[in-house]
Amino acid sequence: MLDLKQRTSQPPASSQPPAGCPLVTSALLTSEPMTRHTTYRIGGPADLFCQPGSFGDLRQALREAHRRDLPFTIIGNGSNLLVSDEGFRGMVIQVAGVFNGIHFQGDHVIVGGGTDLGTLLNQAARRGLFGLPFAVGIPGTVAGAVTMNAGSATRYMGQHVESVRVLDCQTLEIFDLARGELDFQYRRSILDCGRWVVLQIRLQLEEEDPVAIFARIRELLLRRKEVQPLAFPSAGSVFRNPGSLYAGKLIEDAGCKGWREGQAMVSPVHANFIVNLGQATAGHVFRLMARVQEAVWQRSQVRLQPEVRILGRCPEGLQGEGML
Ligand SMILES: Cc1cc2nc3c(=O)[nH]c(=O)nc-3n(C[C@H](O)[C@H](O)[C@H](O)COP(=O)(O)OP(=O)(O)OC[C@H]3O[C@@H](n4cnc5c(N)ncnc54)[C@H](O)[C@@H]3O)c2cc1C
Repeated sequence: MLDLKQRTSQPPASSQPPAGCPLVTSALLTSEPMTRHTTYRIGGPADLFCQPGSFGDLRQALREAHRRDLPFTIIGNGSNLLVSDEGFRGMVIQVAGVFNGIHFQGDHVIVGGGTDLGTLLNQAARRGLFGLPFAVGIPGTVAGAVTMNAGSATRYMGQHVESVRVLDCQTLEIFDLARGELDFQYRRSILDCGRWVVLQIRLQLEEEDPVAIFARIRELLLRRKEVQPLAFPSAGSVFRNPGSLYAGKLIEDAGCKGWREGQAMVSPVHANFIVNLGQATAGHVFRLMARVQEAVWQRSQVRLQPEVRILGRCPEGLQGEGML
């Protein structure tokens, strides 16, 4: 069960896991640096942090947050998160690397929310199941991808979701939501409201030849390497595509490629990626985002909205939604 004795997290630097790679522990950590739990490797401390190892632990963590009257947030692999430098005054509950069972039933799969997308794609491919080409190379959990309705310009996760099993964060009851109730829209779903923990997802995949699937996966990974700056930490696309326009094209047209604020840079490879050159702070990224928003507004009269989810305090200069 969850160890509610608080422990300040200070492992030796050498034993720290790579960012985005979960430490599986049931302890409730205090002042846990969110650099360790985001692919951006940016972010101040969460007052309390845990990675529940079981369903009981998850419930206990939520009860504890209620008991202390603390704000809390659920995260997956932190691959779409920008955490402020001040961190988060509440409890962060990471559901990644746990709740990760995968059960196939014909061309359907029931998958735990904490499952890594790549693992799901691999196991499905071995059984001759695919249908999620857009998901190849997305470094998140299945629950994160469903919550965000992750995808490409034309295909998205919601198209394959049949139902989702959730835990209500307030009542701690479990129930199923059918696809029709999830209101999938561009990079949005009803799940993205902080009310539920996504525990399990039922997906429908498509039957294909495994050899062809693996060849396609390799091709898609190579393509990502060509068009995305994968050598630097990031959270993927920073801004949402406005309507039928591409945020990356608008940013490039506004001349922002290569712009820098401290250690944050608008990638010369893909203008909608702001990369961490090594020691970037959230402040650097926020300032760059605000400059890019202004430049695109001046050039095209389009107000870009953040696609990354912002956790913690967001500076006033930055306009838009996306706060957790
Ligand atoms: C290099 C790179 C490439 C990317 N490419 C793409 C792409 O092609 N398409 C795309 O759409 N995205 C892309 N992304 C963004 C990101 O990977 C996806 O949005 C991903 O689906 C987020 O999953 P996650 O588990 O990391 O979620 P997180 O970033 O941890 O969280 C995202 C949201 O989901 C919620 N959430 C997560 N888990 C749960 C849960 N169990 N229950 C309830 N809520 C939950 C969080 O509260 C938050 O609102 C990319 C990111 C990177 C770094």
